[in-house]
Amino acid sequence: MSFYNQTLECLPRIQLQDLQILRLRQTVAQAGQAAYYRQIFQDRKITPDLINSLSDVNLLPFTTKDDLRSGSPEDFLAVPLEKVVRLHASSGTTGTPTAVYHTQDDLDNWTELVARCLVMVGMTPSDVFQNMVGYGLFTGGLGLHYGAEKMGAAVIPAGTGNSRRQINLMKQFKTTAIHIIPSYALKLLDTMAELGVDPARDLSLRLAVIGAEPHTQAARQRIEYGLGVKAFNCYGLSEMNGPGVAFECRSQTGLHLWEDSFLLEILDPTTLQPLPDGQVGEVVLTTLCRQAMPLIRYRTKDLARILPDECACGRTHRRLSRILGRTDDMLILKGVNIFPMQIERVLMAQSETGGNYLIIVDKEGPIDTMTVRAEMSKALWDSGPGAVAKLERKIERLLRDEILISPKVELVPTGALKAAEGKAVRVLDNRPRISEE
Ligand code: ADP
Ligand code: ZN
Repeated sequence: MSFYNQTLECLPRIQLQDLQILRLRQTVAQAGQAAYYRQIFQDRKITPDLINSLSDVNLLPFTTKDDLRSGSPEDFLAVPLEKVVRLHASSGTTGTPTAVYHTQDDLDNWTELVARCLVMVGMTPSDVFQNMVGYGLFTGGLGLHYGAEKMGAAVIPAGTGNSRRQINLMKQFKTTAIHIIPSYALKLLDTMAELGVDPARDLSLRLAVIGAEPHTQAARQRIEYGLGVKAFNCYGLSEMNGPGVAFECRSQTGLHLWEDSFLLEILDPTTLQPLPDGQVGEVVLTTLCRQAMPLIRYRTKDLARILPDECACGRTHRRLSRILGRTDDMLILKGVNIFPMQIERVLMAQSETGGNYLIIVDKEGPIDTMTVRAEMSKALWDSGPGAVAKLERKIERLLRDEILISPKVELVPTGALKAAEGKAVRVLDNRPRISEE
């Protein structure tokens, strides 16, 4: 079983593009049923028959998170409420959570996409799948849950937190596959080390789905090595269903984005003009099958690039690079642009650092300062203050080379930093906002 829907997953590009044009036209018609788009379409004289090629997407308006927050969520509803069977919301990482409505068909489509993803990475009906993320409004729980059931795995709806309980479940039910947020996976590795659990000896894990937050290749390798699994990157956002928008295949080179369901654009975040394939820009997505809440040219604020060439797995849907960060996450210190992932890359390359870290930004007088506080392994802590200070200075030097400013590095014992239940908060920016100065 290597495909869930081979016909669609391997559809020749020409046919895939024809399908996209057809669905884009249908989406414009459907979006016109929602009060928000009806008004804009009327003002700009936008009708479905304007769409004759994929580049005609240029004629359509963008939608931002602020637009979603601007009025009532129902302004985006394109079907009568009696057709709606579920509501989800974003995690609210950057402000008020935004709501998304689904009809039964919307949910069925989402479930199929997730089932495709799981089969793509080699999950089979014999797998026991422990879903270790939040159930509820957050889309990660129910999204993966239904997709895994659909492809036939035995699903344990474990939810978040309580590492001991999670480990016991893994032992008791011989869990083979997990879905876990990467920052929590790193934390779980520390807990396993503390409890003397050796995954190779005590557990049956072989596969992990990791996503919902930016993470580096170094973090993935740590998770793979520590848990003895292959870990696959899963990208999604609640506005586009949730997890399963794009997912790595077994070759782990980029994430196939399901182009029969989403129209992908990579745009320059300032000019909003298309960038050539291969250049990093903002991921902009249009739903192609949504009934309850079609979204047009949604600006995700996520930065990624399209990878060239066809994938060896045979799927024709293009691949996104790993998400390099959100435009919102970018820190500007002393005029230098810094992404938290640059710091994570340096930290994760040191075997003596733990999984949890926090970047603290302050202003001392007119000067921006940065402190990187990271947990360290018990072994390093036990080897005394001299060894700790030595590694602190080493990381400071490596960070200076990577981000071109000189942060202070403080290593703290495992467990000293607050652990997040859901997505990790990696940055604490204490600087007064410009408007308050
Ligand atoms: P919020 O925007 O409030 O976090 P969501 O729960 O919908 O709401 O999260 C979607 C966002 O999470 C994406 O836009 C992206 O920034 C991040 N994200 C999701 N999956 C990944 C991933 N695999 N890699 C990096 N970032 C991810
Ligand atoms: Zn592939």
